[in-house]
Amino acid sequence: MADRDKPADDGGARLRTAERDLIALGIVAAAIIMFVGSGGSALPAVVRSLLGQGASPDPLLTNTVLLNIALVIFGWRRYRELTSEVTERRRAEEQARFLAETDPLTGCLNRRSVAPATDSLIEQASARGEAAAFIMFDLDNFKQVNDVHGHAAGDLMLQEAARRIRACLPEGGLAARLGGDEFACVVPFDPRQPHTIDRLAAALIEEVSRPVKFQSVALETTISAGITRSDSEDGQLDSQTLLHMADIAMYHAKKQGRNRYFWFEPSMESELRFRSELEAGIRRGVQQGEFVPYYEKQVDIATGEIVGFEMLARWNSPTLGLISPEIFIPIAEEIGVIAQMSENLIRQALNDARKWNPRLTLSVNISPIQLRDPWFSQKLLKMLVEANFPPSRLDIEVTESCLHENIGLVRSLITSLKNQGVKVSLDDFGTGYSSLSQLRTLPFDRIKIDRSFVTSLPGNPDNATIVQSIVALGEGLGLPITAEGVESEEVLRELRRFGDFKVQGYFYGLPAPAERTRHELAQLDLLLEVTGVPEADQATLPLVGNA
Ligand code: C2E
Ligand code: CA
Ligand code: CA
Repeated sequence: MADRDKPADDGGARLRTAERDLIALGIVAAAIIMFVGSGGSALPAVVRSLLGQGASPDPLLTNTVLLNIALVIFGWRRYRELTSEVTERRRAEEQARFLAETDPLTGCLNRRSVAPATDSLIEQASARGEAAAFIMFDLDNFKQVNDVHGHAAGDLMLQEAARRIRACLPEGGLAARLGGDEFACVVPFDPRQPHTIDRLAAALIEEVSRPVKFQSVALETTISAGITRSDSEDGQLDSQTLLHMADIAMYHAKKQGRNRYFWFEPSMESELRFRSELEAGIRRGVQQGEFVPYYEKQVDIATGEIVGFEMLARWNSPTLGLISPEIFIPIAEEIGVIAQMSENLIRQALNDARKWNPRLTLSVNISPIQLRDPWFSQKLLKMLVEANFPPSRLDIEVTESCLHENIGLVRSLITSLKNQGVKVSLDDFGTGYSSLSQLRTLPFDRIKIDRSFVTSLPGNPDNATIVQSIVALGEGLGLPITAEGVESEEVLRELRRFGDFKVQGYFYGLPAPAERTRHELAQLDLLLEVTGVPEADQATLPLVGNA
């Protein structure tokens, strides 16, 4: 930290000396001129007279000499005063500069001063044949600490983090708080020894994640860090570029599960660009209705008849092409558009399914985020009423991860939907951690065995055992079972050995859009038909069933 003060100190010292010299020169010149002019000849006479060794000199001359002495004394005092004034002003200026450059909470450099300080550190390092590493990181669960324990706890955590960071830093390194819970360190290092920076990053992660004692609680956090270096193939990089790169690497560390560090790599930048394109595309796509429902057949294993469809979201992005729901659903959840997306899809699906034979059911997937909304069941029932769709034909699929959220709210939502006749299935069973007691206390209507167990059933005794146990569990709890991921006749044969199932999977064809599904159902005589009327008017007309 001391290094960055050096150039400013040199300049300040020069200024101080110049000011002092000027004042001293003025006073000394005045005194000498006066002394030479009057006192030079008179002073010996005055002294002799005072010692009684001669006649009194001219009183005017005596007064002039005394005045001259008084002036010299006055000049000397003024010189002292001015010197201390200048020192005082210098100190105030330094204090102001310190405050402007420093974060008052942690004593680290602040965001504004980190760029010039970094650039000057890079210059000094490169003059010595060294490079600088820029490490950027933030505390992974700082917001939670602040929310749960209050701002005093948050402040303490930041101060303690800053203290430990400074303790880890080697000589010549600097620490900055970029804002919020974000910090940066800039450290000179031998470019042939980057592992010294790896060691430093590991030490920072370890030190900062040690618990911080606040009142009677131990506050815990981890950090995610991104690192980059000032020397590159394209020459020396500046502080702005380093900050940008370290930020991207830090984001990558967060995505990889936090509590770790990554050196910046160019591929991360394109990933990030793709990710922000996806986010923007999803927001736009939700507004413009680009998400459409596809339908996957659900079949009764005993009769081979179609009993319903699971709606699966599809996105054919005009700029990015066909994107899997496994990519866009988690992002839609993260950026807060899942509820709107899902409502649009469910509306379309209810409208499509209304035209199918009334004994066919419709299953829809519901995100855990949607179950955090206390109005969710009301919203769903309103959509059912608006679409004039019987609740008993709708089946919502929730995954086990819903059960770890607010279990009280989830239970009341499920109960309220069930009271209206909607069915509720537990999806992807076997992949999460639902406890048997939750299975018993939550009023599910059905269990869906995760496709990973089903697809590889033939020749895999472990999976056969798992499927068999889930079947036994379902029987014990009185819950019917759907097996998804049926890709072959062989799997069907295996499943038949275990019992009665609803099945679905690519064996019965890939999920298809509304129009193709309608076409297939028409061929099977499973469609309600209205002829000769524009689509928009169909809802108001009596539907004629031909099934
Ligand atoms: P999921 O609910 O487990 O849906 C079944 C997934 O398995 C679908 O993938 C389907 O295409 C695929 N699948 C079906 N049969 C087979 C098969 O025989 N073999 C194999 N290997 N796969 C099969 P998809 O459509 O890519 O959906 C992936 C996940 O995205 C879904 O898993 C579901 O969790 C989620 N998802 C899809 N649509 C929605 C939606 O509208 N809302 C929410 N919240 N999630 C959705
Ligand atoms: Ca599902
Ligand atoms: Ca599933």
